[in-house]
Amino acid sequence: MEFSEYDTNALLTITNRPPLVFTEGDGMWLTDHNGKRYLDYLQGWAVNCLGHSPQCVQDALAVQAKKLINPSPAFYNEPSIRLASMLVENSCFDRVFFANSGAEANEGAIKLARKWGKLNKNSKGENRYEIITFDHSFHGRTLATMSASGKTGWDTIFAPQVPGFPKATLNDLGSVESLLTDRTVAVMLEPVQGEGGVIPATREFMKGLRELTQKHGLLLIVDEVQTGMGRTGELFAYQLSDTTPDIMTLGKGIGAGVPLAAMLCREEIACFEPGDQGGTYNGNPLMTAVGAAVLDELLKPGFMKSVQDKGAYLSAELLNLSDRHGLQGERGEGLLRALKLGKEIGPQIVELAREMGPVGLLLNSPRTDLLRFMPALNVTTEEIDQMISMLSETLRKLGH
Ligand SMILES: *Cc1c(COP(=O)(O)O)cnc(C)c1O
Repeated sequence: MEFSEYDTNALLTITNRPPLVFTEGDGMWLTDHNGKRYLDYLQGWAVNCLGHSPQCVQDALAVQAKKLINPSPAFYNEPSIRLASMLVENSCFDRVFFANSGAEANEGAIKLARKWGKLNKNSKGENRYEIITFDHSFHGRTLATMSASGKTGWDTIFAPQVPGFPKATLNDLGSVESLLTDRTVAVMLEPVQGEGGVIPATREFMKGLRELTQKHGLLLIVDEVQTGMGRTGELFAYQLSDTTPDIMTLGKGIGAGVPLAAMLCREEIACFEPGDQGGTYNGNPLMTAVGAAVLDELLKPGFMKSVQDKGAYLSAELLNLSDRHGLQGERGEGLLRALKLGKEIGPQIVELAREMGPVGLLLNSPRTDLLRFMPALNVTTEEIDQMISMLSETLRKLGH
């Protein structure tokens, strides 16, 4: 079938899509409407942590769909109780609120911090509500999470913004300190800025932030929508720096492709009262059954070690490729990595790699001088080798 035979006009344009319709996925591979296969280093934007259509997700969906799909969040259901308990047992948090997207989980975190700031007023008896966030950060596409994000231009597209999100500079503790006021209630950051170009917060910065927030009675919120669920080689990226945040949000990998997200907090600050927060699909058994199956996989002995090994292998191979093609090196944590091109050729590489035959390669260029790699956590070394050789060929074709 030709692409032109599809009538795509009924879809609202929200992004520029290539003229392809994907019909099947299996592990690291996607197939389009013509049967052409693509090695997929996007994986739904770091979402499919176990690759496309993994067996454990298929099984969890099939089994749970027959049993119970959604009794309403007004009642308890077994999979959500099980997944919440697993998350609490394997993190520094005590309570879990389930949501359907990363942005919604972050909205929950923002609301919880504001509620806590209302209960813990400043010395003048005023509510505290300001949450310091960072330049180039990304927290989602709702009004509040866009306002919290530090993406260029986002302060004006849908003006007026939701107030109360002053922006500091990542890895610059002084810039955070200089934004503190008696209205400040929290600091919120991604342990590795994903959309911003895979920029890790340093271990020292994370530790420094924890000390600073503790000293001033502020909450530390980590947005682990992209970095959580094993992506960095630890189950959660805050563990890389041995810090203990107050609130964490999860999304993407937790559902391995299905819409599931979560907001976790410590007992001391779990201040929501009935009516403060909720949502029709929150914690439904169909999605939380998938989350539990995914976490079961990640917790299998040796799984996290294999992510660390694959991350180290990808890092070394990217560095080799960078040396061979005169590029600027690479950076990242675990299996969230970026290749620094040193020239504005990212979009050209993405297009040529995709159009390559007989098989294509799907890559992402979050900035024009950068490529980002978000493979499935169970990617094989052969699939890394194949990507490197396809990327190398693409670079050669472009004369680099
Ligand atoms: C993707 C992402 C979000 C938004 O998640 P959605 O599920 O798209 O709403 C928020 N924060 C970070 C760090 C992300 O990478």
